[in-house]
Amino acid sequence: MNVVTRFAPSPTGYIHIGNVRSAIYPYLLAKQNAGKMILRIEDTDRGRYVDGATELIEDTLKWLGLDWDEGPIVGGPNAPYFQSERMEIYHEWAKKLIKAGRAYADPTSPEKLNEYREECNIKKQPFLYRNYRPESSPEWSPGVPLRFKTIPKSYDWHDEVMGDMHSGPEVLDDIILIKKDGYPTYNFAHIVDDATMGVTHIMRGVEYLSSTPNYLALYEALGLKAPKLVSLPHILAPTGNKKLGKRDGAKSVTEYRDDGILPEAMLNYLACLGWNDGSEQEIYSKEELIKKFSLARIQTSGARYDETKLVWLNGQWIRKIVDEQGVAALAPRVQEFWPESAKEFNEDYRLQVLSIIYDRLKTLSDLRQMTGYFFTEPKIDVDMLINNKFIRKLSESEIEGILKTAVSELSQAPSWDAETLQQILNQLLDFTQKKPAELFSLIRLAVSFAPFSPALNLTLAVLGRDRTLARLNAVARAI
Ligand code: GLU
Repeated sequence: MNVVTRFAPSPTGYIHIGNVRSAIYPYLLAKQNAGKMILRIEDTDRGRYVDGATELIEDTLKWLGLDWDEGPIVGGPNAPYFQSERMEIYHEWAKKLIKAGRAYADPTSPEKLNEYREECNIKKQPFLYRNYRPESSPEWSPGVPLRFKTIPKSYDWHDEVMGDMHSGPEVLDDIILIKKDGYPTYNFAHIVDDATMGVTHIMRGVEYLSSTPNYLALYEALGLKAPKLVSLPHILAPTGNKKLGKRDGAKSVTEYRDDGILPEAMLNYLACLGWNDGSEQEIYSKEELIKKFSLARIQTSGARYDETKLVWLNGQWIRKIVDEQGVAALAPRVQEFWPESAKEFNEDYRLQVLSIIYDRLKTLSDLRQMTGYFFTEPKIDVDMLINNKFIRKLSESEIEGILKTAVSELSQAPSWDAETLQQILNQLLDFTQKKPAELFSLIRLAVSFAPFSPALNLTLAVLGRDRTLARLNAVARAI
């Protein structure tokens, strides 16, 4: 079978991580089968339409490397890909249903509808519109909603994730196909589009499962074969008791990008949120995901969102990129995450800094906090120095003495590389008779005044001879 999947977001605002997983699985399935993924913009709910939301969707997919084969920008044989531009197609299909006696214009006023609902409430009966069909309906024209005329019956179907499903006649109703503003409902438009675009697999959130019997009824009435249905489990809030929402930290995908999460990590994390290949493996590249993904291993229960795991994976990916391709491959990815002052330094120096710090980064934005002292002279903070837990035991004159000895030994270094510097630091331990924690913390703090730095010899090697000696001297004078 030629697999055709689709991602069909509504441009109603930001695209959060819960939504984007509905793009990842269709992408993986399409690629795995040398098929194609369509991007379709479902913009028929004009009240919820947000300007710029489509571009945000496109940017998000591009950032994640989820290229669509057909859709906005790239075009394709099933254009247009914005539902608002496909009105004639929906109206044509609607007319087929009217002709077949399976759809009717519904003049019932909203007030009347409310009365019916109220009546059912009082009788403690579920409200079904089909029990209140108007006796006669006018010819369908703009301004009047068009409803499906359902035939109550049972359905059995197979959901690729949820298994064999059954529904009774009570769930079928006369759903609206075309609203009074002339735009189709999601319920109708997606069926027409998936059918006319040749979609073979509908992969979407499990929230659509309860409406599936109505969709099956529509396929039947339209003489269409339903595509394979794949209901994706919810992504749950970290508490596990509800669907992940904005308030539980479901940031937009682009916010994660701006916070320094790599697209590889995001893709890896989201793909494994609700799917696994049965092994213990945690790091997957896009290529591996394409190879290993399977519908059968999508889990049926909700998957809990865990940002700590995402950040952990990001750290793993940072290291993986450097291990496999060298630090130069990471450099272009971190450009916008350097502290402002780094811009005054050349690329070679920044690369040296990156090569000694990358394995401590969890997010790329950690660079900003972690590397300031490589680019700006740190402010001397004597209190911070003398109160440090390793340095506390040393008197001020001892501190001054150690710093001066360090300056004199280091200034004689025959060369300024990490190995030579390590030898000199070891000699200094002998000269000063201090513990490594005391001596090295003192030198480290004196050159950085930062709570953390990479290994001392590496830090000094990158800082360079002049900067190191000047900083040590300045602190010795300030004590
Ligand atoms: N436009 C729908 C949404 O954003 C798409 C659901 C589907 O994939 O069919 O929820």
